[in-house]
Amino acid sequence: MKIVIKHNQQPAPPPVPEKKFIFRKAGEAYNGPAKPTQNQPAAGSKKPADHVMRLLRFSCEVTEWAREQHRAGKRIGFVPTMGFLHAGHLSLVEEARKQSDVVCLSIFVNPTQFGPNEDLEKYPRDEENDLRLCREEGVDMVFLPRPDGMYAPDASVFVDEEKLQRGLCGSRRPGHFRGVCTVVAKLFNIVQPDVAVFGQKDFQQVAVIRRMVRDLNFPIDIVMAPTMREADGMAMSSRNVYLSPTERENALGVSRALKSLGSVGAGHPAAEPMREQMRAVLEQYGLREDYVAIVDADTLESVSHVEAGNVALIAAYCGKTRLIDNRIL
Ligand code: AMP
Repeated sequence: MKIVIKHNQQPAPPPVPEKKFIFRKAGEAYNGPAKPTQNQPAAGSKKPADHVMRLLRFSCEVTEWAREQHRAGKRIGFVPTMGFLHAGHLSLVEEARKQSDVVCLSIFVNPTQFGPNEDLEKYPRDEENDLRLCREEGVDMVFLPRPDGMYAPDASVFVDEEKLQRGLCGSRRPGHFRGVCTVVAKLFNIVQPDVAVFGQKDFQQVAVIRRMVRDLNFPIDIVMAPTMREADGMAMSSRNVYLSPTERENALGVSRALKSLGSVGAGHPAAEPMREQMRAVLEQYGLREDYVAIVDADTLESVSHVEAGNVALIAAYCGKTRLIDNRIL
């Protein structure tokens, strides 16, 4: 007998009418299923006037929502974020919408992916503006767990990717990808998406998540969306808010260094002079290198000679702010 396993397909469910809009204000306690209230999309909204956005704070509610969507035959697109949303995040929502029927965006500043001396406490947050942007962008459901709502105090199971995270940000931020994999695995289990969209801005993160999804058999398509940039080429990032006006000018050195490599011809040029060239640009802009690398896109291993499809990556400090960016050559 031939067994065909199709991911995420429920056995012929009766169609379930979609519940009407449920929106809970930030900080409101969970007292059973949320009540419908007013939610007019703002001018410029990408969804029709009767679009409803749900704000859910409890994982059980989210999973209930997800099951409802699947029973109704809908494909769920998912965009995990740490909030303080900008156009880069919104471009992921747009991509998710192309690939699915309903889109969930999560906002959670995940403590387990921050090192002890990193910026967890001061990481920028603006819940109200994030929710406004989500509504305007036509997000169907925002999952905004409480800070202590994701991990049991005695949590003792974590997800560790062991190869792709060895270099680059993984070696500079020990434990970072353990935190990322663990929270993304948890979010995948809660949201049950069919497709999840991540930004190329965090190239190593996408590679590590893809590997986790493959090795742990998550039935989820992982899509990588291009990096959104400011007009001058600087990669958008929530952390750019840390930069003073002068630092912001210097920070441009990161994207300039990547751009300085030009296009790679068929000649397999040596990688080291190209890395040196990037270092020189960083120095010109007064930036302190954390790493400068050219790697194979699949293995993330350093290459000695460069070919099209390799990836150049930079992490550099501008004052106290650590910036990352990359470019597929
Ligand atoms: P974060 O909130 O920084 O954790 O990012 C959430 C998601 O947005 C990740 O998949 C990031 O790679 C993605 N992202 C961040 N900045 C950008 C950008 N400038 N362009 C596209 N995606 C981005």
